[in-house]
Amino acid sequence: MDEEALKQHIRDIPDFPEPGIVFKDITPLLANADVFRAVVLHLSDHYAEAGVTHVAGVEARGFIFAAPIATHLGAGFVPIRKPGKLPHQVESQEYELEYGTDLLEIHRDAVGNGDVVLVVDDVIATGGTAAASINLVQRLGAGVAGMAAVVELDFLGGRSKIPEGVELLTLVHY
Ligand code: AMP
Repeated sequence: MDEEALKQHIRDIPDFPEPGIVFKDITPLLANADVFRAVVLHLSDHYAEAGVTHVAGVEARGFIFAAPIATHLGAGFVPIRKPGKLPHQVESQEYELEYGTDLLEIHRDAVGNGDVVLVVDDVIATGGTAAASINLVQRLGAGVAGMAAVVELDFLGGRSKIPEGVELLTLVHY
């Protein structure tokens, strides 16, 4: 994919949601039919031979990419959610934020032994969300086909938090 062309559809919003954060707003990319489809197809094609049984999307913007990728791969969709949102029995994983910690949850019966899961989010920043999501999938006994996101904030070093043996694929770097 042409990284510079993709960047034309990602907008910087300074000081959102709090002072000092430059938010990478992907809504222009999503609103462009050709670009959105190209991103979904590119990420899907990369894993076409990986035997993916499920695509796990990280709440909330990860869902937007994970669901169409799942249908392209002929795989199921699994939500990884913020605490208290999933109705059935969950596995929880704590992860570090800039200040304090938070939790992510997955349904215990969502995936298991023999399943191969691609984990998808929109942005990799510090990598904590991605690492916690991968951990949840692995704790359920499933294999991880990879971690994919549209944007990677290289200067935050999130890539180093991705467990060894899990490939991180990102399309746009800042
Ligand atoms: P992290 O755990 O620090 O890698 O943060 C990743 C999660 O927070 C992803 O789910 C992103 O959607 C969101 N996020 C973090 N930083 C940004 C940013 N600068 N712009 C957009 N989303 C962000």
